[in-house]
Amino acid sequence: MTQRSVSEVVPATRTLEGGGFPVRRPFPTGTLALVDPFLLLDEMGPVDWEPGEAIGAPDHPHRGFETVTYLLAGGAQHKDSHGHVGKMGPGDVQWMTAGAGVVHSELPTREFQARGGRMHGFQLWVNLPAAKKMMPPRYQEISADKSPVVTSSDGLAKVRVIAGEALGARASLQTEIPLVYLHVSLQPWGTLTQPVSPELTAMGYLFEGSARFGEGSRAARDGTEGDLALFSADGDTIQLTAGHLGAEILLLAGQPLREPVARYGPFVMNTSDEIRQAFADYQSGGFGRIPATLG
Ligand code: FE
Repeated sequence: MTQRSVSEVVPATRTLEGGGFPVRRPFPTGTLALVDPFLLLDEMGPVDWEPGEAIGAPDHPHRGFETVTYLLAGGAQHKDSHGHVGKMGPGDVQWMTAGAGVVHSELPTREFQARGGRMHGFQLWVNLPAAKKMMPPRYQEISADKSPVVTSSDGLAKVRVIAGEALGARASLQTEIPLVYLHVSLQPWGTLTQPVSPELTAMGYLFEGSARFGEGSRAARDGTEGDLALFSADGDTIQLTAGHLGAEILLLAGQPLREPVARYGPFVMNTSDEIRQAFADYQSGGFGRIPATLG
């Protein structure tokens, strides 16, 4: 087994998303457009909302890819143009394959809005191969108790397996391309050694504490910003080692599509003609609308 080295460490930028909630975004930025097959990674918050002030993302469309939401704190409610309603709490995952198109809203739950509190989570966008961009929309909702959480034999590494496999546990979630999505929690000086095929693009996002990714490479955090480490394809395992503060890390890996990417806002296709078609379909009401009677 050979360790993969870190090719680059990218600090997250800060921006506002949806109706104006703060996110930390390692990509896309002006310098890093995508990490094939991943199109976007947002750390939502953490933000502490006063009662009545929480902001989400009101009605908007998607076509041609998947949005993956993983909540660490707070409460979110989802509604869409296919009549789907879902609620999320800490530890829950919603894997939405937008495919041919949905209009959806992603908002704080009524209970959370009334109470206020901490909202923290992630949204990842995963591209779909050309042959699957127009597939029917699909939801996979995995409540916190349904994704395996495994601890290493020394007790210093805990992993929530959202997609793929780690420490002998396998996620039930189905993906369109080979994918790994792990939430790794390391105690001070704890280590995780995770096999990841060199054929998969791999990255680690450190969002709390400090850690060393691979041998000699460092991804440090100053207590406020996230750091994304991109791994080279020069080995078949990834090693994560926490510093004295411990570390919270998302480890993501996926098979690159190596296809042309045409993206405009919420639409990600292969050609600009397909983007124009997506706009036309959306504007003519082809994506439907969220039924007023929902939830
Ligand atoms: Fe969305």
